[in-house]
Amino acid sequence: MSTSTIGGLAPAGHGNSMNEHEWRDKAACKGMDAEEFFPARGTYSTQTLALRACEACEVKEPCLEFALKFNEPGVWGGTSSRQRRQIRKERRAERIKNGKNKRLIELK
Ligand code: SF4
Repeated sequence: MSTSTIGGLAPAGHGNSMNEHEWRDKAACKGMDAEEFFPARGTYSTQTLALRACEACEVKEPCLEFALKFNEPGVWGGTSSRQRRQIRKERRAERIKNGKNKRLIELK
């Protein structure tokens, strides 16, 4: 299982500042089974309970941005790892389109 934890259970010091993690105090997933969010490799899970918790969570946006920033596995901010890969891909394409990703532009 991943060492990642969710919501208020995330280890302190994973990030830059206390303010960056204040959203964890309001996590709807506090106390939920981590297996719902991080199914063991090789097991099948629809992650339905996790995604349902995220739907009603008031800190979905900062949670999603955290997972995108740190490339976290599992369910974060109402998205699966696969969905976040797509979001990163779309954002990268948008940055290139807007000329904001110098490294990728130089490699072209
Ligand atoms: S959005 Fe989902 S994973 Fe993130 S804190 Fe809320 S319930 Fe937990």
